[in-house]
Amino acid sequence: MATDPRCTFCWKPAKDLCGRCKAVRYCGSICQRADWKTHKVFCGLEYPSKDDEVASYRGVLFATDEDKPRFIELPIKNHDPNDSRTASILPKVADLLGESSPGLRSVTWNGRGNNEREFMRGRLVMHCQNYTFQEGFSNFKDERPINLALRKFTGLTKDFDMPGPVVVTKERWMKVDEYMDVEFDDLKDMVDLLIYQMRVSAEHKKIFKNFDFFPKLPSTTTPSSPGEGSSAAHHSIEQKQ
Ligand SMILES: [Zn+2]
Ligand SMILES: [Zn+2]
Repeated sequence: MATDPRCTFCWKPAKDLCGRCKAVRYCGSICQRADWKTHKVFCGLEYPSKDDEVASYRGVLFATDEDKPRFIELPIKNHDPNDSRTASILPKVADLLGESSPGLRSVTWNGRGNNEREFMRGRLVMHCQNYTFQEGFSNFKDERPINLALRKFTGLTKDFDMPGPVVVTKERWMKVDEYMDVEFDDLKDMVDLLIYQMRVSAEHKKIFKNFDFFPKLPSTTTPSSPGEGSSAAHHSIEQKQ
């Protein structure tokens, strides 16, 4: 933790604080301007208070009925400090939101310690979770509400929409289920991750859109190759409930 202050955008040494929130630093005005689209959403926000009695981690929620993402504390049930792998954050998030059928997605990334993170910039390391399409591979009708907060935060168009509520969490480097607090400094990585994920999802949809997994007519020709798509299923990181 006790490393030299870094620019939240390019991760070079930096000393200028954001004049408004004083929560992030920049190496200069070029990075500050480049980061503003992301940072302005969180500039001036404070971390939610923590209850010391309850093991919890800070994540970011993109709710469908709010136009901005926000930090949330995610309490973990049955947290055993000796075995963080017992923690399962997602059911708790669903509790918290009172979400039932619309289905919650989680996007998680592996975060290294601050002193190591410069190696991670530019090549996001993502934890893979199982990937399930809403209604099977052959039907992409997704009834969940549009996530405008996500669209606004990433700046992507509707072609890349990821509907339904989304929670972003961060895990310790290579340690599945060992959650870390999302910090102001993480927001650049987070937006990169979301953009990447939304683009990959849009590609998957294109690949599978007109592909019939259960052809009605007996055919002598080999079905068009699902290979690419089904292997992609193991690399994506969405999870719905
Ligand atoms: Zn910079
Ligand atoms: Zn600020």
